[in-house]
Amino acid sequence: MQLKTISLTTSFVLLSILLVNAQNQKPTDKTAVTAKRMIDVRSGKEIPDVVILIENNKITGVGSKLKIPDSIQIIALGDVTLLPGLIDAHTHLLHQYYAKYGDDNSNRLLEMVQLGPAKRALLGVRLAREMLEAGFTSVRDLGNAGINADIALRDAINSGDVIGPRMFVSTRALSPVGGQFQSVTPAAQELISQEYVQISGAEEARKAVRQAIYDGADCIKVIANVGTRRLSLEEMKVIVAEARRANLPIAVHATDGDGPSMIAVEAGVSSIEHAYTVSDTVLNSMARKKIFLVPTDVPGVTRYQERIKRAVKAGVRIAIGSDIYYEFPGKTRGQISAGMYKTYVASGMTNIEVLRAATINPADLIGNNSIGAIEVGRFADIIAVKGNPLADISVLENVFFVMKDGKVSKYQSVVKAED
Ligand SMILES: [Zn+2]
Repeated sequence: MQLKTISLTTSFVLLSILLVNAQNQKPTDKTAVTAKRMIDVRSGKEIPDVVILIENNKITGVGSKLKIPDSIQIIALGDVTLLPGLIDAHTHLLHQYYAKYGDDNSNRLLEMVQLGPAKRALLGVRLAREMLEAGFTSVRDLGNAGINADIALRDAINSGDVIGPRMFVSTRALSPVGGQFQSVTPAAQELISQEYVQISGAEEARKAVRQAIYDGADCIKVIANVGTRRLSLEEMKVIVAEARRANLPIAVHATDGDGPSMIAVEAGVSSIEHAYTVSDTVLNSMARKKIFLVPTDVPGVTRYQERIKRAVKAGVRIAIGSDIYYEFPGKTRGQISAGMYKTYVASGMTNIEVLRAATINPADLIGNNSIGAIEVGRFADIIAVKGNPLADISVLENVFFVMKDGKVSKYQSVVKAED
């Protein structure tokens, strides 16, 4: 495919969006991507006049004004900023609620009875593509996917049958009895296990993790509490021990004060999701044990903002997760998810802290050192934005170029408007 050099001016006309099928590029392609600047998320520095050299799907060189070998494809993006592909640390790509059906509880019941794994996987095909188009080249998908439909979608993306981000999936979440459902009839309770693995006791916890490993999970998702229904420390410790033996990270949903988070901290999990109202005692223990916070904040809530400030001060590493599962008419799932970053700037994080929490931190949490940064040896997962996200984080809401695994997934080219 021929990609032509484009120039960007203050006046644009949308020309085209090219979605390149993964099979269209030869596996031996060598490419150079150039731009006015790149942000090295690790150092926080801007690299001017950057050249990224790519061979197959890996980065082989990166630096300012690197010499470009003859006769390789050049994608010259001009006055834009390159960044590593975004990583959403908490998604539900096989899960969508609609405001017209009411609250979480009504939607949960409808989803359980109306959508089997096949329909959910096909819903995920669209949402995965929407995420990639918004610049998310990897996601950690944490349950609410039926029985192993997340595995099916992940594998279809990896094999090139479906366009989407790299998915790191959990299979069903382990939870207290009842999962996240409120009271339902005994007949309906039979269906809860389509969505959650309900744990009562250490042996059930052990069995559930072993089943997830067999099913192909990349991480383990645990719901520590649903109101007064809570997993015990003993159950959590068994989950952690079993998951660690298979080298899988453990993501724990914990809300409602310190109790559920403290059990997760004590058991030594990898990340705590939400943790909206935890105290400094919990945050200091998380920092000491190198447990990530995955905040899934909505904008403008003072107590959430305060705990982000306290988490940063305590030295807790943050990996940002969108946790979006409601449709928002007129916006794609990816567009809604990219809108979350400004929430964290409003909470006092610096722009480079937000960029790290969107790239290298989730890569470390996932345990994959081939994603999350533009560095030699890593996968060529690269995005481009107009403007500079170190000055204005909201430019991440308009990603116009996406390369995943060395292949162009989106190139929204622009030309000067004709008078
Ligand atoms: Zn969630």
